[in-house]
Amino acid sequence: MLKKIPWLIAALTLPLHAEIHVSTGFEGGNAEVVSLDQATKTLRIMPALHEERGWPCWWYFKLDGLTAGDEFTLEVQAQTKPFREKTVLSATWCQPKHAWISGDGETWTPSDKGTPGADKTMIYKIKAAAAQMSVAWGPPFVPADAEKLLAGLAEKLPGSKRFELAKTRGGRPVQGIRIGDEDAPHQVWVGARHHAWEAGGSQVGRGFVLWYAGDEARELRAKTCLHYIPIMDVDNAALGAGGKDAVPRDHNRDWDAGPVYPEVAAAQRMIRDIHAKHGLDVYIDLHNPGHDDPVFFFGPFAFERMTGVQQRNYQRWIDLAAASIIKPYHVHPKYRFANYVKTEEERGRMSSGWVRNHTGDFTISVTLETGWNSPLMSVEGYSNIGAGLGRALAAYIVENPRRK
Ligand SMILES: [Zn+2]
Repeated sequence: MLKKIPWLIAALTLPLHAEIHVSTGFEGGNAEVVSLDQATKTLRIMPALHEERGWPCWWYFKLDGLTAGDEFTLEVQAQTKPFREKTVLSATWCQPKHAWISGDGETWTPSDKGTPGADKTMIYKIKAAAAQMSVAWGPPFVPADAEKLLAGLAEKLPGSKRFELAKTRGGRPVQGIRIGDEDAPHQVWVGARHHAWEAGGSQVGRGFVLWYAGDEARELRAKTCLHYIPIMDVDNAALGAGGKDAVPRDHNRDWDAGPVYPEVAAAQRMIRDIHAKHGLDVYIDLHNPGHDDPVFFFGPFAFERMTGVQQRNYQRWIDLAAASIIKPYHVHPKYRFANYVKTEEERGRMSSGWVRNHTGDFTISVTLETGWNSPLMSVEGYSNIGAGLGRALAAYIVENPRRK
């Protein structure tokens, strides 16, 4: 009997197949494992809660130990703990119709459509293509992607200038790039990720800036200085935290006289400076909205009451955007208004509101919300929205928004 024990131990410790292993220890990684059944290859996760760092909705993890061809089941449920006071986040924010899968961390494809399961879970059936793969809420965009993008732009466009907007509270650099002559007759600011979970905003930004660096934008570049920030909330994007509704407030509600975040304070200083010296023509903030929202712009609350150049420019912008942002979805041809923000005080410290209040009559300040809950919102899909945004900008600037 005793003699058999070493064989028994060997049989128990050397499984026929490798164990499936979940990891999140990388930029943007996030998953709290609820259960993992090795026999049925079923993993249940919820987005991990980062205390005071906003909504637990984003998830992104690597799986090891699969065999190509394995059928793997992913179940996603909402985080059960409140993210702020007693508020637990609704499952709709963490349950896209499709999970996104990558074998190399670069190319992302949608899984088959998820199906609702018991206990408000969403169930995704995933076929493994290799022993290791990455699985995420949507195509990720992390600080390393921003670095790669900016390095490529700086190399392609010798007249451009990279800059560090600020160091975050966590000590991370918030990077930007200026493309064009500092004294150009038109000045444009485009940025993404005031909300860290909205990786699609950065994907749109990448599509936009790559279009801007291309041949089609040559004429626009000649008369414009673009200031571009791929990720504002770098800390939460790096940690895989949601950012939205962070304590004491998130980046997009931090635009008052005393910002909590150094990168918001630095953006305010730069925008004031640009406007004082040259005038700011266009400010665009890139976001992702709710799970059943389309692609649309939030416009200024006072739009209906506007007159003169201001009214003309906002109207012209939405008309040109509607003609230019057409794939994979058309942008909604009318502004929406963030009416859920009730007080003037809060409206004033939203980034787009602050910019409106600190610039001129000819300036437009808008928020592009790109609906995400579709298999078409791939890297390429977001990129096409970004290119459409670029074409809208070219058509808008060529008319000279400063004309009387
Ligand atoms: Zn947002």
